[in-house]
Amino acid sequence: MQEATPAVSAEKKPVNFYSLTLEDLKAYFKSLGKEQFRSQQVYKWVYEQRVTDVNQMTNLSKSFREELPKFLTFELPPVIQHLISVDGTQKFLFDMGNNMSVEAVLIPSDDRLTLCISSEVGCNMACKFCFTGKQKLKRRLTAEEIVGQFMQASDRLKDGQRISNIVFMGMGEPLDNCEAVFKSIQVLTNDWGMNLSRKKITVSTSGIVPEMWRIGAAGVRLAVSLNASNDEIRDHVMPINKKWNIEKLFEACRSYCRETGDKVTFEYVLLKGVTDSIEQARELVKLTRSVPCKINIIPFNEHPGSGFERPDDSQVEAFHRELMNLGAHVLLRRTMGRDIFAACGQLTDAKLRQDQTMDISNSILGGKRVRNSSGGQPRV
Ligand code: SF4
Repeated sequence: MQEATPAVSAEKKPVNFYSLTLEDLKAYFKSLGKEQFRSQQVYKWVYEQRVTDVNQMTNLSKSFREELPKFLTFELPPVIQHLISVDGTQKFLFDMGNNMSVEAVLIPSDDRLTLCISSEVGCNMACKFCFTGKQKLKRRLTAEEIVGQFMQASDRLKDGQRISNIVFMGMGEPLDNCEAVFKSIQVLTNDWGMNLSRKKITVSTSGIVPEMWRIGAAGVRLAVSLNASNDEIRDHVMPINKKWNIEKLFEACRSYCRETGDKVTFEYVLLKGVTDSIEQARELVKLTRSVPCKINIIPFNEHPGSGFERPDDSQVEAFHRELMNLGAHVLLRRTMGRDIFAACGQLTDAKLRQDQTMDISNSILGGKRVRNSSGGQPRV
């Protein structure tokens, strides 16, 4: 993928460091008449050492350290609520200013620690089963706000823990905010930065077909929120299908597979009486045969006013078994974080008050310390 042109200038107020790819930072320093190798040094201090106090960046010259605060800020979106589920899932609520907030969810499993990240405040896709979809798009996040979710969550891990995977499956449609999403991926995968593997990053889309090529071009994984076995049902639960139907969506998926050699992950939410019949399981297998894929089935997580119900466990099992019997590569997703309202499709920008959950902002999970990080105070 092409590096983005830096949108930075020498005379302006300090630029947020987390908005800059390494190439951006080099160009910025060059525009200021500074040596470009300084960019690798600063990247290393911030991402590898988690040092944002310029006085501690000891391999920079004293005069450069004195100047640096005029050029760069290291502000992160403040965490205004941090909840932990009985199953170990953690939810972070970030203040995005002007009374807006987004959530990110950290999901532990045996072999990985996955951060589900948000790309927008609200969402215009209006998927019927999704809590976020009930709120219209308020604004698209910037690259630094996306990277910031990752940094804030990382900074609260216990020593020795590391986020291994990122999924863009939080609030918002990532392909409705391509510039910031793909820039944040460049930042997080840079060798001098967090050095995350592109293969451990998944971008999930509801099906903005004309933008789907970007996912393959960025070298990251594609997930498609499918949720129906035919156009009639998909039109009903996902209005975007009226614009780009299943045929167009699947052509884009096949193109991704051809170009990357990877499989697509189809997400399929089981809605009682809507998408959970055995006939639909059979139709789903038939439909997905033309795409190298795996299918994640997700029993619906109920939320107020959704109008849908979660199927009984016996129906979920029967649906799962039918897919397996028909030879599909399928995974029944275990629901995580329901007690803190962090499960799939439950994210919102409203701050929740949950008596059963524990605010752990200052708890023992503090572990790794960040020197001079921002955080804690809501922005206005
Ligand atoms: S499922 Fe995703 S794309 Fe659909 S409304 Fe919710 S956040 Fe938007």
